[in-house]
Amino acid sequence: MDQIGKSIRKLDGGNFEKRLEALMQEVLEDKRIQSFLTKQQGLTESQIERHLNDLFQYKKEWANCDDCPGLENCPNLMQGYQPELKMYRDDIQLSYQPCPLKRKADERKKQAAFIKSLYIPKEIVAVTFKDIDQDNASRVTAIKKAFQFAHATNPGETGQGLYITGSFGVGKTYLMGAVSNALAERQIESMIIYTPDFFRELKQGISDGSYQDKLETVKRVPVLILDDIGAETMSAWVRDDILGALLQYRMMEKLPTVFTSNYDLDDLEAHLTYTNRGGVENIEELKAKRIMERIRHLNEEVIMEGDNRRTFS
Ligand code: ADP
Ligand code: MG
Repeated sequence: MDQIGKSIRKLDGGNFEKRLEALMQEVLEDKRIQSFLTKQQGLTESQIERHLNDLFQYKKEWANCDDCPGLENCPNLMQGYQPELKMYRDDIQLSYQPCPLKRKADERKKQAAFIKSLYIPKEIVAVTFKDIDQDNASRVTAIKKAFQFAHATNPGETGQGLYITGSFGVGKTYLMGAVSNALAERQIESMIIYTPDFFRELKQGISDGSYQDKLETVKRVPVLILDDIGAETMSAWVRDDILGALLQYRMMEKLPTVFTSNYDLDDLEAHLTYTNRGGVENIEELKAKRIMERIRHLNEEVIMEGDNRRTFS
């Protein structure tokens, strides 16, 4: 009875009984409480009296909700929770349920957990298309393509993706954050992988046995975003056993991949050839071509230009 006790002391010059009566009156006048009580047959007055504190709390917190100042400023006992009156073993029971705002916020958090931001800076985790400045025609085109992709792709039905190329600092990785979040809104899981680190990690994974699991996980993700492809150290193993295998699987399963790169497709081909011993017959060249065929076939090349957005401090 603390709450009521306090209220009474505040209000009261002395007459406790009278005040209690008044409080009871106030509680019983509440529309929600009335509606609850009329549905309960056989509740005695003493039961109601015993739960006066609960009823008072219920009324007070619903008054907060009626005047909701937003989840952040929720004044309720448990932030984001609304009281509920129930019957339990023939007695009144006060319980709490998350309010609609709280439920929506929780849902959003769950979606954010979909995004496995492997190796990706924290600053892009929450980026949405609304945050992205469109200050230049070439950037606008890239943003549009990325937007269309994020809102239309259907992993498993079409493996069509994008290859976004542009120089350092133009905002490619940032744009991928928006793609990933838009996909999460559609309940589509994606992973943004910083490609050089990923290949390095797989290499290390050979000795500790984690290599296979890691590759499998990334291979199967509905939308894979390979950020900064071309920045890795190329080798025959990386190209054929990792990248080749990865793309082969995704092509068969119709799982889209989005690439970002400082290289355009022709430069990437040269990078994948990585040893240039000359001659059209060169086996490296053929292998690089085979991978490039897949990438070209499934991914539209989109050039993204603009100022370097990086700020150096
Ligand atoms: P890239 O991956 O092309 O090298 P980033 O995506 O890392 O470039 O962007 C460089 C910097 O500019 C980052 O700090 C990023 O937060 C910022 N940035 C990029 N694009 C935008 C944008 N459209 N609006 C606001 N800031 C941006
Ligand atoms: Mg980047």
